[in-house]
Amino acid sequence: MFKSDYEIKKELCEIGRRIYNDGFVAANDGNFSVQIDPDTYYVTPTGVSKGFMTPDMICKVDGQGNLKESNGPWKPSSEFKMHLKVYQSRPDVKAVVHAHPPIATSFAIAGIPLDKLIMPEAIIFLGAVPIAQYGTPSTMEIPESLEPYLQDYDAILLANHGALSFGCDLNTAFFRMESTEFYAKLLFHARMLGGEQEIPCGEVKKLVELRKQFGVPGKHPMEKLCPGCYAGDDTCSMSPTEANEKYGVESSAAYHGFQPLPSQVCPTPSSNKDIEGIVAEVTKKVLEQMNK
Ligand SMILES: [Zn+2]
Repeated sequence: MFKSDYEIKKELCEIGRRIYNDGFVAANDGNFSVQIDPDTYYVTPTGVSKGFMTPDMICKVDGQGNLKESNGPWKPSSEFKMHLKVYQSRPDVKAVVHAHPPIATSFAIAGIPLDKLIMPEAIIFLGAVPIAQYGTPSTMEIPESLEPYLQDYDAILLANHGALSFGCDLNTAFFRMESTEFYAKLLFHARMLGGEQEIPCGEVKKLVELRKQFGVPGKHPMEKLCPGCYAGDDTCSMSPTEANEKYGVESSAAYHGFQPLPSQVCPTPSSNKDIEGIVAEVTKKVLEQMNK
């Protein structure tokens, strides 16, 4: 589906309002971008609340991050380097979102990755969320810190800073940010209630299969999460954490290095409706499984 430049700018403003209203950023924080082609990007301006942007504020930059076009005083976010790193490493990515959602960012501050497999939707659509090493914003330190994770993940926590999510379009990238925060919130509450119970490995494998059936675009670190399961033991009842211990995988960061699922083709036209349809279908399947 063809979108005019104006429609893309309007979409960036709309996502800005949602991110601001969801409390994922404070004041002028956060930045997001959309790729038109490898040498053309629309980027949110710096020094502006993302909740109150208008289309004329959105900047156009080239593949080196140089300004191509802007109205009045607006300048593109100095964090665009971090976005470019994602686009250059992942040709399937067409939109990048950076925000500071408070619970997920608290995990990034505490140094706790979101690597517990606790909920079907989070496993199917998001996978795990690792933490990239701390870097000074606007320098090359953050883009470099992403390097180990870009091929296996679609959302990354930035140590002591925030979160980064990306996808085949702006809505997908935003939903991944929303899912990251929701997942962090659930894990946080479960820990206050005495700790999470993970979904057993054999069940995780079924969810990863469902993900393939739904053709969810993006990358996923879990295909080989439990080597026992993937060696053919469908009845494996270890939690992924126990499996990691048994098979010598020490931490979530170690998911990296596993053979990821092949990147799926991005659905086009992709819209809210597609994602809502997929979510409804997953919810139905999960309920069917539970009622068996
Ligand atoms: Zn930030």
